[in-house]
Amino acid sequence: MTATTRHLDRQAFGPKDAGRDLAGLTLGPFPGSRKVYLTHPQRPEIRVPVRAISQSPTLEQVGTLTRSVPNPDVYVYDASGPYTDPAAQIDLERGLPPVRSWARARGKTQMQAARSGEITPEMEFVALREAMRQPPEFTLSHQHPGFSHGFRMPQEITPEYVRAEVARGRAVIPANVMHAELEPMIIGRGFRVKVNANIGNSVVRASIVDEVEKLVWATRWGADTVMDLSTGPQIHQTREWIIRNSPVPIGTVPIYQALEKVGGVAEELSWDVFRDTLIEQAEQGVDYFTIHAGVRLAHLPLTARRRTGIVSRGGSILARWCLAHHRENFLHTHFRDICEIMREYDITFSLGDGLRPGSIEDANDAAQFAELGTLGELTRVAWEEGIQTMIEGPGHVPLHLIAENMTRELEACLEAPFYTLGPLTTDIAPGYDHITSAIGAAQIAWHGTAMLCYVTPKEHLGLPDRNDVREGVVTYKLAAHAADLAKGFPGAQVRDNAVSKARFEFRWNDQFNLGLDPEKARSFHDETLPAEAAKTAHFCSMCGPQFCSMKLSQDLAGDLRAFMEEGLAEKAQEFRAGGSELYVPAEAGADD
Ligand code: SF4
Repeated sequence: MTATTRHLDRQAFGPKDAGRDLAGLTLGPFPGSRKVYLTHPQRPEIRVPVRAISQSPTLEQVGTLTRSVPNPDVYVYDASGPYTDPAAQIDLERGLPPVRSWARARGKTQMQAARSGEITPEMEFVALREAMRQPPEFTLSHQHPGFSHGFRMPQEITPEYVRAEVARGRAVIPANVMHAELEPMIIGRGFRVKVNANIGNSVVRASIVDEVEKLVWATRWGADTVMDLSTGPQIHQTREWIIRNSPVPIGTVPIYQALEKVGGVAEELSWDVFRDTLIEQAEQGVDYFTIHAGVRLAHLPLTARRRTGIVSRGGSILARWCLAHHRENFLHTHFRDICEIMREYDITFSLGDGLRPGSIEDANDAAQFAELGTLGELTRVAWEEGIQTMIEGPGHVPLHLIAENMTRELEACLEAPFYTLGPLTTDIAPGYDHITSAIGAAQIAWHGTAMLCYVTPKEHLGLPDRNDVREGVVTYKLAAHAADLAKGFPGAQVRDNAVSKARFEFRWNDQFNLGLDPEKARSFHDETLPAEAAKTAHFCSMCGPQFCSMKLSQDLAGDLRAFMEEGLAEKAQEFRAGGSELYVPAEAGADD
């Protein structure tokens, strides 16, 4: 293990980056928000980032007077790193300052530490992050009981709970010891559902500057991890720029770079090339590797009758290699060698679903579940070796077949965290696949999936641009949040409660700022009512002032209060007139 390069090399820039500066990033806080750091009482090195959203006061009418009642800040989970902190010095050529100065000294994986009863700084960090305590004055804590499909959701997230879940393999903290810039996070069924965004260049479009911008942009909108799926030129340098500037875990599919090294000819791949690639990426600080070791020679005939064959890039590369050599997948035969490298750096497995269905017609077929069985066997091996492991899942699955995917994964893979792409619940809406898949994502996350890989509106159609990335991440954040509410994750409902209160009180700016996409909410509102005065108006352009049911219902609430107060006053008067006796004698003729 050697030190990583701290100064990033501008010479690596290709022709598309020539003359471009690195100042095109979107920096600074969200509207109405500021960065706050939660601190640990005993460990000052632990500073957990949170976004504090400020609110305007509630204006209450008391007779002819207006009373102003302050509303507290609302804290929300923040994956955006120092880029939204105006106090942070951002210098992309130097990379982010280290958050985990302690990382290289541990000598054990998170899983090994957890099994030995040790609570690592990363576990303390994620416990604070997941618990997300609101400011003391916050009162909107009502939450409906959840339904978590047989899983016991904790009442509270504590460091001990985190340790126990990591020890058991039900949660992972992807954190390569070489990625000191990382703000630790956790992926597991007992925690907030996470969202991954994919970035990466291709031969058609390769720019390091673009990739760094995409990273910052995706995390700004809430991506909890980012996968660099680059397949074009300068893969190594692009990844170096991404990792050194990433506050979130970075995942890769190392077989892509290995394939580039052999000139794109799958048959030329070998264990030696793959091993060198793994070590190269491990040294850089990649936090989790997608390894398609479950694609076995014997499974391939099961895909022959499929409508859409093998749609995973990694899956198809390895299938080609297996068939060309008529040998078992070398990732499978060298699995323990891979474990050895990953243990050295504490890299997490993301066991790839190379045979996932690529169409509704192919959902839940024999090939998919044969591979899942192998992934379960590999999970056992990885755990023996002390390696944290999650399992990748589909793909394209109609709504009524989603539950089976989750149930089978939990059984076959011993409850290792499931990480699914969508799934898309129908194939009929190209251009809207962020929605066809978010429907499936919310469902499968409710059933227990721990992380969702986002899908953008460009899925199946082209390389996503900035707007597609934003649309995809926000859509998946809401799917993940809907699942957190449904499974009863503690504290999940506070943001909903705050938005509802702001909405009912016509605090329009607060409603925008508390939402997942404040800019979009504001711009939709302002399309028809742009004046500043409209930000406190008791209606919007949807129903207009005469028919605003919120306003009517607010007035009604006032009338009801007055009615009840009057009724109570009348009863009090009756009581006094009757001599203020608590007990009155029974009337003649009544039962005795
Ligand atoms: S006008 Fe209609 S949509 Fe707008 S705030 Fe009132 S009830 Fe809601």
